[in-house]
Amino acid sequence: MDEFGLIKAFFSAHGSGASVRQGVGDDCAVLTPPSGHELLCSVDTVVAGRHFPAEARPELVASRAVRTALSDLAAMGAEPLWMTLALTLPHADEAWLKLFSRGLYEVAEHYGVSLVGGDTTKGPLCISVHVTGSAPQGSALLRSGAKVGDEIFVSGSLGDAAAGLQLLLGDLDTDAQSAQQLKRAYWKPEPRIKLGQELRARASACIDISDGLLADLGHLAEASAVKAVVDSTRIPLSQALLASAPTRQALEYALSGGDDYQLCFTAGGAEAEQLKQAGRSRSLDVTRIGEIVEGQGVVEASSGAPFFVKQQGFQHF
Ligand code: ADP
Ligand code: MG
Repeated sequence: MDEFGLIKAFFSAHGSGASVRQGVGDDCAVLTPPSGHELLCSVDTVVAGRHFPAEARPELVASRAVRTALSDLAAMGAEPLWMTLALTLPHADEAWLKLFSRGLYEVAEHYGVSLVGGDTTKGPLCISVHVTGSAPQGSALLRSGAKVGDEIFVSGSLGDAAAGLQLLLGDLDTDAQSAQQLKRAYWKPEPRIKLGQELRARASACIDISDGLLADLGHLAEASAVKAVVDSTRIPLSQALLASAPTRQALEYALSGGDDYQLCFTAGGAEAEQLKQAGRSRSLDVTRIGEIVEGQGVVEASSGAPFFVKQQGFQHF
């Protein structure tokens, strides 16, 4: 199968719809942004053997690549619109491609994002997903808006994906039900698109947790020129995680494990009160974990000292 046959067979199904005048098949896609909106775009690359096991199921690889890319749109309150795919393949394995494209389109449909173009080359397996979304002019959530006195929240529970990865690598063992939930958290993280949009008018700053809570909250604090004080007893941990690791280990996954793709955000005043109330009544799955004060960095509430965990998030270089 040649390059163009491959594109035609596996990656030209989508890309129509009101906002897409030309999708896959020309030199560029031709797209119409919603009026009164700003566009937000982001690209994420995953490399076999570094970000996922090379022998992993292709539909899971595709699903995770799209989900993690969409998480950046969620973090800024954007609505997903379009994506392009840069695919580097060692060879044109049709069985692999069929499953990969099926996984890709399934997630794309679920989140309402159209595949409108890409690039296909030969080389070590590597996948780049570029996403574009939109938000009403001036409404996108930035990392830089946190103010002294704001409270800090996270969505969902943290640490499951990091534990799931340890299970996949054979470095952790647990009961079958917990294992299923933790591995799912790693392979199928949920980009918090709806929550991000709800937070547009309520949060002062937001970031998605890809590298671990402490590392990502550290980025938010730095961008906002403030200090984050976190009460580690308030970090939401799932039953599956607590059933699979001692509490301290579970907390370490949650604080510095990464791959959660939950949102960490700040809010002040009436918005903070509403969010706390929504969290308590579980009408939103958000939890208050700390507060913003003057200074810099991220510290533990009880001692005021930097966290005990050594490694603050994953870094490539
Ligand atoms: P060009 O050489 O003009 O850059 P290509 O030959 O690389 O274009 O691609 C042909 C068409 O197929 C373009 O519309 C491109 O966006 C699309 N395309 C290529 N690879 C992919 C892919 N993996 N997924 C989706 N669309 C792709
Ligand atoms: Mg061209």
